[in-house]
Amino acid sequence: MAKTNKQPRKRSIPQRMCIACREQEGKRALVRVVRGASGVQVDPTGKLSGRGAYLHPLRGCWEKALETRGLQRALRTALTAEEMDRLREFAQTLPVTEADDPVADAVTSAVEKSPSTDE
Ligand SMILES: [Zn+2]
Repeated sequence: MAKTNKQPRKRSIPQRMCIACREQEGKRALVRVVRGASGVQVDPTGKLSGRGAYLHPLRGCWEKALETRGLQRALRTALTAEEMDRLREFAQTLPVTEADDPVADAVTSAVEKSPSTDE
């Protein structure tokens, strides 16, 4: 009876790999870049059709992916100068390093704000 058969919580979040640092993440923690009909673009909704690649929302990962042509490889296409500029521009809006995780923060504060019964 000493055995506590705790089942690990099963979470079926699809895993994707950041093409820059090759870390697996839940799909939502990554930003999708898609090669669609109108060229390569950032796909914040993750709903555009086309060949997609995933990157952390961190400037470092984007710069690395652009510099090493990892993005081009993942999307199997060459990027036009314009597309490069657009992606670089987007990268500039991202934090350099991982700061606060906005998703985790939201979850934490939601938990903290849950009504506590004052005896
Ligand atoms: Zn990354």
